[in-house]
Amino acid sequence: MSRRANPMAVKAALTYDVNEAAAALGKTPATIRNWVKDGLPIMSSRKPYLISGAAIREYLRAKYKTAKRPLGPEDLFCPSCRDGRKPLDMAVTISPMTARTSLLKGICSHCGGNCTRMISKSRVADFTRTFTIKEGAGSDA
Ligand SMILES: [Zn+2]
Repeated sequence: MSRRANPMAVKAALTYDVNEAAAALGKTPATIRNWVKDGLPIMSSRKPYLISGAAIREYLRAKYKTAKRPLGPEDLFCPSCRDGRKPLDMAVTISPMTARTSLLKGICSHCGGNCTRMISKSRVADFTRTFTIKEGAGSDA
């Protein structure tokens, strides 16, 4: 896996040719051409292709959003780690959020921060088998 390019490495108001975009993002020109084939919009069909920085940012944000890995069955999402983590002692609280969803909260076993996961109420039973449920936050929605 190659490292993610930083969308903020390009300026939204500028246009880039393939080589310039590659240099700005720390990628090879071949990677940029692959992105164009993959749907990164170019500003003209004539060479050299020009790509707007704004289009690059939008493309990368969409790309990385869809690439986000789904959480494993034993994971909550830790915003500090920006990844799925098992809660400390596999202990969570469950708080009702809406008519159909509940929020699991636990302590990240990796960094000690708060980690959370929204679940459908229909799946609470599954999660109570996976996790130790502590007393909830006292919401009675
Ligand atoms: Zn964490």
